[in-house]
This record gives sequence, C-alpha cells and structure tokens, in this order.
Amino acid sequence: MQELVEKVLINSQEIQKRINDLGKRISRDYKGKEVLLVCVLKGAFVFLADLIRAMDVPLKVDFIACSSYGSSTESSGVVRILKDLDYPVEGKHILLIEDIVDTGLTLNYILSLLKERRPKSLKVCAFLDKPERRVVPVKIDYLGFKIPNEFVVGYGLDYNGQFRNLPFIGVLKQEVYSQK
Ligand code: 5GP
Repeated sequence: MQELVEKVLINSQEIQKRINDLGKRISRDYKGKEVLLVCVLKGAFVFLADLIRAMDVPLKVDFIACSSYGSSTESSGVVRILKDLDYPVEGKHILLIEDIVDTGLTLNYILSLLKERRPKSLKVCAFLDKPERRVVPVKIDYLGFKIPNEFVVGYGLDYNGQFRNLPFIGVLKQEVYSQK
C-alpha cells in the first residue's frame, strides 16, 4: 500500500506527540466534569481511539455517521445522518470529534443538530483542518494540524473506503485516482 503514497505530510511520531498534547489540554479544560465524546464516523475513529487514551477525565463515547464524499474526492455539500447517537446529549458536556474540516458543511450541520438537543456545553476537536476550502465558518476548539488544500488519506481517512490503516497522513499518487 505504501508504494501508492506520493508523500507523507504528517508522520506517526508527530501525530502521537500532538495527540498527547491535545489529550492533556482537553483533560485540563474538563477537569471535574464528565465529557461525552461524539465521534463522527468513519474517518475519526482512529483519532478517537488514540485521543481517549491520552485523556485523564471520566468520559463516554458515542458515534454518529453522516454521508460524506462517497467514492469521489469532492464534497457534494449534501449532509445526511446515516447513524444517530445512542445517548441523549441534553445537559451533557459534548466534545465532537471530527477527522477533517474541509468546507465545514458536515461539521456545521452536526453542530446545529446537537445544539437543538440542549447540551450543557458543545465543543469541537478536529484532527485536521483545511482552511482554504472553507464554505461556512466553524469554530474548532481543539485542532491537531492545519494542512494545505490536498486530498489526504491515512490515520482513519480513506480514499474509496481504503487507506484508513496507514499510520500517517499522506497524499496518494495520481495513478490511484485514475485506476477507478
Ligand atoms: P466538509 O463537510 O468539511 O467539506 O467535509 C468533511 C468530510 O469530508 C470529512 O469528515 C471527510 O470525511 C471528508 N474529507 C474532506 N477532506 C478530505 C480529505 O482530504 N481526505 C479524505 N479522506 N476525506 C476528506
């Protein structure tokens, strides 16, 4: 698989170091509170798994799934809930865990949906941010890395369902996209 990677943008040591720092910061901010981490499937599950092990506060996790890119690399702008949460969020401290914020449409939609359910607090933790592509403004409270406007894979992020298991963030060779 690695032979299909054009370049590595963020290696696994950089990722682990950043996540440890984020985990410490979030734990400090939520000291004395219980937090419900809402992971946006599927891309954020690897980030969530590492992040919760870097956190030292009482926490629960839940999962929400939305439609995203499908098999192409361009956003349709249409957001649809495919799997809703198991836990109610009313009165809880919610931390939304996203893999990447691109246009911001997905995050904006999920945030407005969760706000209607009256959480006690609602914050966002995103692993990656591509600010150049933003269509709607969204506030990211905790961020892993800012990246340039390139389609990336690895560390949970896919292309056509694959490459989620790469332990780094990378860009694929052009030939992968033309193979379809
Ligand atoms: P947005 O709604 O912000 O445009 O897109 C958010 C979703 O699009 C992300 O959760 C992710 O699933 C997908 N996405 C955006 N940029 C990339 C990218 O560079 N690589 C991959 N694999 N997915 C992306």
